[in-house]
Amino acid sequence: MQLIDGKLVSQQIRSELKAEVERMVEQGMRRPHLAVVIVGHDGGSETYVAAKVKACEEVGYRSTRIAFEADVTEEQLLQKIDELNRQADLDGFIVQLPLPSHIDEQKITLAIAPEKDVDGFHPVNVGRMNLGLPCFLSATPAGIIELLRRYQIPTQGKHCVIIGRSNIVGRPVATLMAQKGYPGDATVTICHSRTQNLKQICQTADIIIAALGRPGFVTSDMVKPGAVVIDVGTTRVPDATRKSGFRLAGDVDFEHVAPLCSYITPVPGGVGPMTIASLLLNTMQAAKQTQNLL
Ligand code: NAP
Repeated sequence: MQLIDGKLVSQQIRSELKAEVERMVEQGMRRPHLAVVIVGHDGGSETYVAAKVKACEEVGYRSTRIAFEADVTEEQLLQKIDELNRQADLDGFIVQLPLPSHIDEQKITLAIAPEKDVDGFHPVNVGRMNLGLPCFLSATPAGIIELLRRYQIPTQGKHCVIIGRSNIVGRPVATLMAQKGYPGDATVTICHSRTQNLKQICQTADIIIAALGRPGFVTSDMVKPGAVVIDVGTTRVPDATRKSGFRLAGDVDFEHVAPLCSYITPVPGGVGPMTIASLLLNTMQAAKQTQNLL
């Protein structure tokens, strides 16, 4: 069994991007510039945004944090998005979700110019992904694909079972795994809460991607020996031994499943660290597009 070390891969990506930024600057180009918009004071969101800003600094990007109080109106937020869409020295931006309930998240997502949508949530980017055209891939699916690529895990003709059909993980990762080329060319089955015989379907999987948010759901009797298991789940479960009072639990019963696998991602330290790396990769792509380097 080999552990897929997302932390290590994400550090490798950061080093590569840092070197690329230095080359760009030497050649007189502008540093990639990412803005992150945050609304309110949700603890989780503040942590994620701080991590994104720190990651930008680490690789030498310029970053701008734009904070609004929770009572900002939808109109004020849309006005800011319009400004950011037109800001010439800004390559990409994201609006950290979730937003307060009086703001329509879909309206916000649609307002972001697709060429600056480094979260890859705009329907134009989602549509382009479905057509196999160049686009910004959303962070988690892109991170999973990058892990498979970096570990050179064979996917062609393999049966990939995905548990979960959300718009941010299950469905896009299914599309990518079924796309022509590597990593892809897999035969994909998407399972969800209405799936019958889920256990039997998983038993036929060469690759299982678990993204349902149910700790320990994938048990050893569901996994074929030699399978590759990608655990996307990150559920906070109470843990009195931790300073935070919780720990992150994956969707896979790691202790019993890991010995059966050829490759497996741990939680934490697997898919999670890849999401910021994917955002940095998208921002680099946006910066190159803005500066006509692609
Ligand atoms: P979500 O929107 O809640 O979707 C969950 C999916 O799992 C749904 O399609 C649901 O089916 C399916 N499901 C739920 N219970 C099931 C069951 N008992 N059997 C089969 N399918 C079941 O979740 P999400 O946003 O995709 O996230 C999934 C997990 O990944 C969460 O733990 C989340 O925290 C984590 N996550 C991690 C990262 C990361 O960076 N590591 C990023 C994003 C998400 P229905 O459609 O039928 O309801």
